[in-house]
Amino acid sequence: MNINEIKLKLVEQKEQIERRVSAISHDLNRTEPLSQDFSEQATEQENLDVLHALESEGKIELNLINRALLRIESGEYGLCSDCGIEINPARIDALPYATKCINCAE
Ligand SMILES: [Zn+2]
Repeated sequence: MNINEIKLKLVEQKEQIERRVSAISHDLNRTEPLSQDFSEQATEQENLDVLHALESEGKIELNLINRALLRIESGEYGLCSDCGIEINPARIDALPYATKCINCAE
């Protein structure tokens, strides 16, 4: 896979995640006050926790993608940010925003 394809894939992924995160933020913002019923309250709180977790996960992913895009621009893409060796292409394929080789990531 060439770098332009990877870049396209990353940009696409980024847009998807941005849409997802903004939909989640939207849901979190319009959430009504918790219900009076205790067991319902617990369920509602659980849903909120899940949404918050998804939101922060998405933001972390966005961060990684942005970093990968910057590394493409600077020509460092595909090299491990810790030890500098070339990251295994199979790993890049599975995880296009990986910035570390498998050894350093562990
Ligand atoms: Zn490494």
